[in-house]
Amino acid sequence: MVLEKYSIGIGDRFGRQGRAQLAAVMKAKEAGIEIVPVWNKSHREHTIIGTLPADVRKEADDAVRLLAWDGSYYVDADHIGLKNVDLFIEASDFFTLDIAESIGQAGNDDEIRAFVDKNKKYAGSVSIPGIDEVFEVTEENIKSIGSKYLKAVKEAGEIYRHIEAAKGADNFITEVSMDETDQPQSPVEMLFILAAVAEERIPAQTIAPKFSGRFNKGVDYVGDIDGFAKEFEQDVAVVKFAVKEFGLPDNLKLSVHSGSDKFSIYGPMNKVLKKFDAGLHIKTAGTTWLEELIGLAAAGGDGLEIAREVYGGAVERFDELCGPYATVIDIDKDALPTPQVVNGWSGTEYADALRHDQSCPKYDPNFRQLLHVGYKVAAQMGQRYLEALEKYEDVIAANVTANIYQRHIRSVFM
Ligand SMILES: [Zn+2]
Repeated sequence: MVLEKYSIGIGDRFGRQGRAQLAAVMKAKEAGIEIVPVWNKSHREHTIIGTLPADVRKEADDAVRLLAWDGSYYVDADHIGLKNVDLFIEASDFFTLDIAESIGQAGNDDEIRAFVDKNKKYAGSVSIPGIDEVFEVTEENIKSIGSKYLKAVKEAGEIYRHIEAAKGADNFITEVSMDETDQPQSPVEMLFILAAVAEERIPAQTIAPKFSGRFNKGVDYVGDIDGFAKEFEQDVAVVKFAVKEFGLPDNLKLSVHSGSDKFSIYGPMNKVLKKFDAGLHIKTAGTTWLEELIGLAAAGGDGLEIAREVYGGAVERFDELCGPYATVIDIDKDALPTPQVVNGWSGTEYADALRHDQSCPKYDPNFRQLLHVGYKVAAQMGQRYLEALEKYEDVIAANVTANIYQRHIRSVFM
């Protein structure tokens, strides 16, 4: 399986918006941009919401059939490791091998020595086409990169071979992800990580580094935008170079786990992709669920009632809901509106506070982030929540499609 140049990871907490999400990709196609959809859901998300990988497969297959999509599409076992990959083998054909936890763990000395021996030819000045800066690399640098990342890459190799044994090498796409960690990887680190990935014979088609800055869930990028732009450009150049240098798959590209809505860096990314004629996989995570809430609130009546209740429940269970996402949210708890205040809001007021429109004075990033991680409250409403999604399907679907197409696809790829 060969992943296309442009692909978008579309998360869907409740698995009801597959068609609305696919409609956004189809709009892009009508506008002349070919993007393939990848439905992704992590083990963490499945556990919180009580769904199975087979549910995502069904959602994807149904959406594709109902809208008669004739392009490729994939189902991503997002952020899996050896301990849970088996649950995803059958339903998935895209595997995001998460090795972040093993970064920094001491590797085997002999293996590190072999890694340094193999790569010491790069000690000295390294020039990479497309990057003005010349990198000065020492054997010591290579050793410390090996010490920090080799164990993690070996682990990716183990997971890869486990999947390969079950599915056959050509029947799935492999991503290596290192994004859920505190420290960003520099472009030089990326270069040697890719050397290790090649040495480990992992045919990675996408690689997800941790970039500088904060990628909080559902809100904009926090950090130095010019610094990000430079880092992103250098990573794109490093990936191109590594493909030739180490014999990695030709279509290897970056995967950006955006946590959604990184509007301020989409522009710089778009420019770099065009400059290098590079591909990209972008995961937009779970803001589709927020579009559901916006739709319910805007619909009024019992829709708005549910939206208010979800917020009330989220405030009550703040610590429990935020805990698993601690590294990717920044909520000022004292600045949150009280549930009493929110219960007095109209549907429009609720939607304005939640919708990610930074030009709207009523937009509230604290409110938005809490609801982003608050999907467990809706999950526990069970049928009542799902029935409301059905009842207000039209207004919700319109929001979901417009969000993905207008705010994400257009700014990243067009
Ligand atoms: Zn991620």
